[in-house]
Amino acid sequence: MRLREVRSAVDLGRWLQSVGITPSEHPAFGGVHDVHTTGSLHYGGAPNVAEMRRRGLKGKALDVNDTDPMDDGFRKDFRTEREALQFLYFRLLHAAEKFGWPLDELFFAGFGYIKEEGRPTEAPNHPVPNHENHLHVALTESDF
Ligand SMILES: [Zn+2]
Repeated sequence: MRLREVRSAVDLGRWLQSVGITPSEHPAFGGVHDVHTTGSLHYGGAPNVAEMRRRGLKGKALDVNDTDPMDDGFRKDFRTEREALQFLYFRLLHAAEKFGWPLDELFFAGFGYIKEEGRPTEAPNHPVPNHENHLHVALTESDF
C-alpha cells in the first residue's frame, strides 16, 4: 500500500504497518474497545461497540501508539514518541491534501483537523482533549 493509493481506514492501517507503525482500535487491526466517545468514528456510525457489531458496521478510524509507546518501528528515528507522532500527523495531513483522501479527522496533542472546516492544509487547527498520547485518524468514506 502506498500513501497515494489510500482510500479507507483499512488502507491507511496497511500503509502504517508497512512502515513499522502499529494501528489499533479498528476491527481489522485488533478490534475496537468501548473506550471512545459516544458516536466516535471508531464505531463506524454506531453509538458504541455493541451497536456497531449488531449493525455489521466497519470502523472508520484508527489510533496509533495508544498501547505501547515503544512498539513502533518509526520511533527509532525520533527522540520521543511525541516527536514521532507529530511528524506522522503532518505527513498524513499533507498526504490527505495531495492525494485527495476522504480524511475526516486527524488529532494529536496540540493539533487537530476536522473535514467540515476545509481542506487539510487550510483548515484551522483545533487541539482535541484526550489525544495527548496517541494519534487518531478517521477516513469516513471508506467504501468506494
Ligand atoms: Zn481514536
